[in-house]
Amino acid sequence: MQRVKKCDKCEKDFIQKWVNREKHWSQLNQVSYWTDDKKWSNYQLFCRSCLKDWFEYEREIFDNLVNNESKRRIFYSYRGHGAFDKPDHLNK
Ligand SMILES: [Zn+2]
Repeated sequence: MQRVKKCDKCEKDFIQKWVNREKHWSQLNQVSYWTDDKKWSNYQLFCRSCLKDWFEYEREIFDNLVNNESKRRIFYSYRGHGAFDKPDHLNK
């Protein structure tokens, strides 16, 4: 199962996946998941490429907000496995 959501950063539609094992929509796309509910502007949902850009181009903000060690490790692991490079946009 999947649904189409709009990325709060690039404002493109992307596909968010349902995680059946955990019974919720993929937290990967949820900014508050990474920041432990700390706010960054009004951002709530990010597509994968914006998550990657966040880390690569707005590193200072990333380091300030994502300071939970286990979340950082999860993020690095996703990044290392290329999870943020998978295309999830509806329209290229
Ligand atoms: Zn985006």
